[in-house]
This record gives sequence, structure tokens and C-alpha cells, in this order.
Amino acid sequence: MQVDAYIYLSEKLLPYLEDEAIKQLTDAASLPGVYRRVVGMPDIHTGFGLPIGGIMATEKDGVISAGAVGMDINCGVRLLMTEIPHTEINKKHLTTLLKEIEKRIPVGVGKKSRHSGFKLEDVLKGGASFLAKKGYGLPDDLMCCEEEGCMPGANPDKVSSRAKERGDQLSTLGGGNHFMEIVYVAQVYDEHTARNFGLRQGNIAVLIHTGSRGLGHQVCTDYTEIMYKAAKRYGISLPSKGLAAVPIDSPEGQDYYEAMASATNFAFANRQLITYDVREAFCQVFNSNLEELGLKLVYDVCHNIAKFEQYDGRQLLVHRKGAVKALPPGHPGLSPRFLGTGNPVLVPGSMGNPSYVVVGTEKARDTFYSVNHGAGRILSRTAARRNISPDELKAQIGDTLVNVDRLGKILDEAPQAYKDVEEVIDTLVVAGLTRKVVQLKPLAVIKG
Ligand code: 5GP
Ligand code: MN
Ligand code: MN
Repeated sequence: MQVDAYIYLSEKLLPYLEDEAIKQLTDAASLPGVYRRVVGMPDIHTGFGLPIGGIMATEKDGVISAGAVGMDINCGVRLLMTEIPHTEINKKHLTTLLKEIEKRIPVGVGKKSRHSGFKLEDVLKGGASFLAKKGYGLPDDLMCCEEEGCMPGANPDKVSSRAKERGDQLSTLGGGNHFMEIVYVAQVYDEHTARNFGLRQGNIAVLIHTGSRGLGHQVCTDYTEIMYKAAKRYGISLPSKGLAAVPIDSPEGQDYYEAMASATNFAFANRQLITYDVREAFCQVFNSNLEELGLKLVYDVCHNIAKFEQYDGRQLLVHRKGAVKALPPGHPGLSPRFLGTGNPVLVPGSMGNPSYVVVGTEKARDTFYSVNHGAGRILSRTAARRNISPDELKAQIGDTLVNVDRLGKILDEAPQAYKDVEEVIDTLVVAGLTRKVVQLKPLAVIKG
């Protein structure tokens, strides 16, 4: 190991720590150019290469790794805030909303877009910014996105034709862990910050969790192969295929960065187009307009990405895999919109359970200004299907409306398959890395 590995866990979370996740994190600590420490968040679990909930920063002369970004490049979460108090919304509204949303946004694996006519090249280069300029957004959307909805350096020529073929999934949610949720602000912990983010107690909001679909997946697969073959030539001994890595400034490293930025923009565009569809569905169901309904973007976070960031006066490439950038108030890396508060961090819990908006503190320096991205899995999909019954799932989700006819179809996504999100967040609160801003409680969920 070139550097130490730190994992943030409470005593209650310790039993969930897998040996394989520790190995993956310590493996990452052995890669050339890794800086200061590698970090595991309390939602850590075994992934492909780097564990999910893992952070690895490398110096200029160090490596870049596709597996340390992850399969779903720029998987992330968006939060839209409405002006609708949850007391004004009933079961009938919710049922109609789910139907209208599902009519517009295909859900599940391998589904195709209902929007056509965009040139893939424009999407890969321009992300959400391209779509907003085309009229698929509100004026303030972009300043409420990480990277303002468009990662610089994208080069569609570096995305394989196989990956591009999978680019027909724009504005689709995807399967399994991806979801859309109608929630409301159930509790406000920090009035000042909540107001600044436009979050009001009792109002309805929409959480959207999806990424770069098949396109991003293919980019990760392609470049893991390329990096795996090239590593030997650069004299890098790889601890595992999943952590295949090459020097940042090598041709392969540059190509991956440009392809990753393209897939990142695809994911931003995906969430932007889904936002457009969700807004349209709300306007139809409430027979109203966005001026009345709000549906303003609170923020859009990336949780699988590698970005160049300034740290200790150096430029580092920070790989965040299942982790979210959390800059504290006053940090020079923030946009003027969030300079006084820090950027909003969106932390989904699990189906039927609360989610949170939190912010980072100055102490988050210790984790390259990163916090957890969710609750984190504890049961594999197979184990969850085997061990959890539909009745047990029903007991957990209570009145939360779900878009499936049989709960048996989504047992692998049961809350019992995830850690307790409150315990996970409180671990970082106690460690001094985050502050809670609001708690969101679910009313209805569309599972991918
Ligand atoms: P990942 O991107 O690693 O698949 O998942 C992110 C996080 O989303 C998970 O760790 C889990 O905490 C959370 N999550 C998964 N399904 C749901 C859901 O249906 N609703 C909410 N609110 N959170 C979920
Ligand atoms: Mn994803
Ligand atoms: Mn995700």
C-alpha cells in the first residue's frame, strides 16, 4: 500500500463490512500516484474494482481507472421541489401521477427513448446544457447541477460504436436500483440552509435516481479491457482486473477521460429529459403550470465520476464511486449560487424509507470533500429474493404507493436489503463531515 485506507463506520455498521470491500480499498491504495489516503464511506460495499462508497484521488503523474469510477458513469440523483403541500395531494393524485409519469418515461432494463431527433454527438458534448438550450429546462436548471450539467473535455470520437448503439436509452429510468420517488419535506434540521435550497417543510418533491444507462456501462467495459492490456506496457502491476488503470497522461488514459466525460454528459441529459417529462406529467395531472407548481431543480449530484479538483495546492483526479462531492460553505470550488451554504448533497435511503439532503463541512477535507451516496446494500439481489417475503416488504413500506402489481417483483430492492440510512448518515455527522438539512419521506415510488 502506498497510502493508508480509512473507513468510516459506527459500531452498528461494522458487522456489514465485507472482507472483499476492505481488499478492494486496500488494493486501490497500492496504485501508482494515489494521494494521501483512500477512503470508504459508511455505505461501503463490494463493487467492481473499487468498492461502492469508495474514494481514490491520484496525482498528476498517477493513474486513472475506469473501474474506480464504476459501470454506471455519472449515476446520480436529482431533486425537484414543488409548491404543492403534501396535505393537498391524495392517493388518487398519486396513482394518476405514477401513471402519467410512466406513460412518458420507460422503466426497466433495455427500454428505448420516447424522445428522438437529438443528435447523440450533441448530447455527449453538451449534456443537460444542450437540452436546456433546446427548451427542455427552466432557466435556473443548469446552475443547480454539478458541473452545471456539462462536463468539459467530452469527445464522442472516444466512445465506441457499440456504446453509441446503446445511446438510444436517453430519458429512460433503467432497472433495479434506479427509481423515481414522490416525497415530501418531513423535517427541517437547518432552516437557513433549507430556505436557501428552496426546501419548504411539508411540500412535495421528486427524487430521480438514474445514470448513463447502457452507454456508460459499455464505456466502462470497453476501457477496462483497454486499460487492462495497456497497464503492463506502463509497468503497472494491477491488483485486480476491476482496478485496471493507466497513467492519466497516457493516450489510453486521455481517451478514457474523454469517453467518461461524454457518458457523464449523457447521464446529465438523461436526468434533464426525465425532469422535463416529470414536469409535464405534473402540469397535466394538476391542470396547472410550472409557475404555480414550481418543480424547480434543487440540485443534481453525480455519484460515480472522476474529476480534476484542487486540493492542498495540487491538482488531483478524484475518483468517487458511490460517493458525492460535498463542498462546505465558502469553499472556492463552489458556484456563486451555493457559496454561502455548500452544495446540496442528496442521499436516498431505500424504498418506503426516508431520504436526506445534507451538506459537507470543513472537516470533509479528510475525505476529499466527499460524503456517502446512499444507505448501501447489505444483501445481494439473490439473497434478498430468497430471504425476504412480500409480507415483510409490505410491513416495511407501509402506505407508500409502488408502481408494481406484485411486491414479489421487487423483493431484491426491499429496505431490508439496505443498511439503515439514518445510521449511515449519523456516522458521518458524528465524525463531523456532514450536517443534515432536511429529511424527505416517500409517498410513492416508481422502481426501475
Ligand atoms: P446505487 O446507486 O449504489 O445503486 O444506490 C444508491 C442508493 O439509493 C442506495 O444505496 C440506496 O440507499 C438508495 N435506494 C435504492 N432504492 C431506493 C428507493 O427505492 N428509494 C430511495 N429513496 N432510495 C433508494
Ligand atoms: Mn446507477
Ligand atoms: Mn446510483
